[in-house]
Amino acid sequence: MSKTIFQRIIDREIPSEILYEDELCIVIKDIAPKAPVHLLVIPKKLISKLSESSEEDTNLLGHMLKIVREMARNYGIEEAFNVVINNGEKAGQTVFHLHIHVLGGNQVELPSELITD
Ligand code: 5GP
Repeated sequence: MSKTIFQRIIDREIPSEILYEDELCIVIKDIAPKAPVHLLVIPKKLISKLSESSEEDTNLLGHMLKIVREMARNYGIEEAFNVVINNGEKAGQTVFHLHIHVLGGNQVELPSELITD
């Protein structure tokens, strides 16, 4: 199976500004932001989507939410931000490497692109 774009960023095969990194995850800016602040929290472990995560990923998932909270604070959006995980193609997922969207800034409504009826 070929690497996902996010795996290639994690492996430094594609240049990308990594805003935060620890042993479990990275944070980057979305290349096509849907809000003034649009970050992606991405686990280093390849989990294709949330529904494919397992019991052993519980700590990792909790850690990712902790990083969401810290990044929201760092970017000054902690008062109002949206957290989105698209799970599956029909839900708008395009990169099959789990990631959490963190959206904030001037808007509080979810961008329509991230909502599938
Ligand atoms: P999804 O649609 O899978 O929930 O979200 C994938 C997100 O990754 C999209 O918002 C898209 O703009 C972003 N994205 C895709 N390729 C790249 C890339 O090469 N670099 C960055 N920083 N973001 C990307």
